[in-house]
Amino acid sequence: MKKIVNGYLVDPAQKLEGYYDILIENSVVKGVFMPHESKNITADETLDAKGLYVFPGFIDLHVHLRTPGYPEKETIESGSRACAKGGFTTVACMPNTKPCLDDTLTISTLKKQISEESAMAIYPIGAITQAISSKKLTDHEALIKEGVIALSDDGKTTMNDAFMKEAFINSKKYGLPIITHCEDHSVTEQYINQPYPLEAESTIVARDVALCRETGGQLHIAHVSSPESLKVIEKAKKDGVTVTCEATPHHIALSDQIVDILDPMSKVNPPIRSEIERALLIEAIQKGVVDIIASDHAPHEMATKNGSYGEVTYGFSGIETSFQVGYTHLVKNNLISLPKLIEMMTIKPAQIAHLKNVGTLKTGYEANFVLVDLEATEKIDRDQFLSKGKNTPFHGMTLNGKVVKTFYKGNCIYDALS
Ligand SMILES: [Zn+2]
Repeated sequence: MKKIVNGYLVDPAQKLEGYYDILIENSVVKGVFMPHESKNITADETLDAKGLYVFPGFIDLHVHLRTPGYPEKETIESGSRACAKGGFTTVACMPNTKPCLDDTLTISTLKKQISEESAMAIYPIGAITQAISSKKLTDHEALIKEGVIALSDDGKTTMNDAFMKEAFINSKKYGLPIITHCEDHSVTEQYINQPYPLEAESTIVARDVALCRETGGQLHIAHVSSPESLKVIEKAKKDGVTVTCEATPHHIALSDQIVDILDPMSKVNPPIRSEIERALLIEAIQKGVVDIIASDHAPHEMATKNGSYGEVTYGFSGIETSFQVGYTHLVKNNLISLPKLIEMMTIKPAQIAHLKNVGTLKTGYEANFVLVDLEATEKIDRDQFLSKGKNTPFHGMTLNGKVVKTFYKGNCIYDALS
């Protein structure tokens, strides 16, 4: 038995906030106790979390671990270490790999690699169409039986409406979310050398919400950036459509007033928007229209970020700074409460992906948790990243909060001091 003492626990799913001791036995939570209640319980090992906050392990439903196919960008080993450093104990990886996660052999091979190389939980997301090309459907039933936790053509939008409808029908039949990267390629291909407009996103959001409404499936919209998308999502939620959405740390923290959006290091999909859109995204987080934070961790080797806007790759290596950005820009700025941020990074993503026994430290749940020093500040240095991707727009910026230790199933998988 292990005991974590003197930490300040924030566990929104149990509505707990305060000094609690946590008992762990055989990789699961044995109980959460007031200090005077646990005083007489002897443990084999006691960890003193004095001065630190304790949160359930973070969950990210949108990461790119580049496996199989791009070991120069990330591997399961480097990606999982980066996730642990960011305080994450459960992530879901997107299918735009080489080959794509579009058949059962590729997925079973990846699962084997995860079990051998990763210290924490990584769940594959299966492709909706083969090679995420919108040309031919994958065998959704086979992928789901192989263990994918969602279907998505992330990186690309499924442009064929009939295929999308089929995906939603299977979402309802098998009870898993369709995650959509909303980008109308007929519009965006006209904007190779500059950021594409908001409408390219909101038209696909409207289509996918309509298909979800019609079929009774479950829709989760990735990285929302457009106010019009947020309006459509808000209305759909009021109407009882099963739709959720995510905001990325970079769309929360950055705007065209903060970074040069034409700088190759700021290039991302969807593009960094203006202060107006950033403010409306934060308002949607406050209102609960945005459900979760997801990093869209997109590691690239630096060479692919050198060149003109049109030439360089999209995306940021974001898993190691995700909590810090959310904490600095949302909580420290008094825009949302700390429990609300933790809820968006723990129990809410667990619920969307129907993940069992994670997202909270209830008795019997996996002992996944993170110890954080909220008083610490850190000047972000991309060369200190454990991810192979050093492509971050936060390099040189100072952020609040620092993950000190991360535990997965009761075992320490990251220790800042070692
Ligand atoms: Zn993505």
